[in-house]
Amino acid sequence: MFRESAIQAPYAFFSQATRGRLHPESVHPYRGPFQRDRDRIIHCSAFRRLSEKMQVFFANWGNYHRTRLTHTLEVTSVARTLARALLLNEDLVEALALLHDIGHPPFGHTGEETLDDLLRDKGGFNHNRQALRMVEKLEQRYPEYYGLNLTWETLLGQEYRAIQSESRRNRPDIPVSVYGHLLEPIRSPFLEIQIVDVADGIAYTSHDADDALELGFLTVEELWGSTLWRRAVEQVRKHWSNLTEQEFRRAAIHCLINEMVSDIFQSTQSRLNEHQVQSVDDVLQLPILIGPSEEVAQQQKELSQLLFDRVYRHPKVLKQREQVRDWFHTSFEKMLHNPDSLVGPYRAVLEEEGEHRAIADWIADQTDRLFQQT
Ligand code: MG
Repeated sequence: MFRESAIQAPYAFFSQATRGRLHPESVHPYRGPFQRDRDRIIHCSAFRRLSEKMQVFFANWGNYHRTRLTHTLEVTSVARTLARALLLNEDLVEALALLHDIGHPPFGHTGEETLDDLLRDKGGFNHNRQALRMVEKLEQRYPEYYGLNLTWETLLGQEYRAIQSESRRNRPDIPVSVYGHLLEPIRSPFLEIQIVDVADGIAYTSHDADDALELGFLTVEELWGSTLWRRAVEQVRKHWSNLTEQEFRRAAIHCLINEMVSDIFQSTQSRLNEHQVQSVDDVLQLPILIGPSEEVAQQQKELSQLLFDRVYRHPKVLKQREQVRDWFHTSFEKMLHNPDSLVGPYRAVLEEEGEHRAIADWIADQTDRLFQQT
């Protein structure tokens, strides 16, 4: 803890202020609470399964593009860079970033949307909520309790994501944690929690553009519609000449990430100064402080829209979505006729919450490859 007081700003979250865990545990002699959370997340099976879950593109479409696991690691990398530059609690940020997508079912957002449809009258399905179910209930790793017994702050960070995404679907009141609602609705979350959101945005816009270029879903000419891309290209031209097309593209992606991270760092720094933020309490009273400048926020939106139109709605991707929907419907139907095949944690869910939720929990725990074989 001495380490934190030497390197963290006064508005960072300090480990000694943790509200602890649902099942109290003794303090570890040399690992802080958020370090232990990070390790528990890395060692849980839901985390390992991310390696065989897709991000945007099918596994067999190439050997270049991201999986859900490498996406998660890129988010963590960006988040830690920002946390270190802003003198925040890196361990907490790392735990939150590693956790953020753990609840994703197989086959990305199509998988999630289809499960949400299938559970429409049963509370729906949301990958951010599912992450909490996994780490609070479904993971069985310790003899004393179900779940990973993470700290209140790590669960709070994930709950914040879940409430944000449920609000976008007009159902913010669904309780998502075994603690009930952790976050007081009028308050902003800690800066460490705010970082994960922006890091996720930076990681997926840049790597989806990169993967789409590599796999031929997008051309460099089409990307000219993005101001951020044009700015990245300017940077490349300033530093290099005579690059091959591939070298040029990759250099531009690196510049793109650097431009976005630098803008967020500088904009956040000036907001912290402007509001004279001195403590975590100040952070909770103020609007969200971590984020890009208005100009770059607009440019990020522009790039996201371009990716949506050209990549996420590419005919090959749309065809894949149809296929995935069919698989989900068939598999769900099959399980509804055979709920006795649900064992272990899913059996307990079946008895407590009904077959729809138990099947959704089971499906969410499948990798893409395993799910296709069901
Ligand atoms: Mg993500």
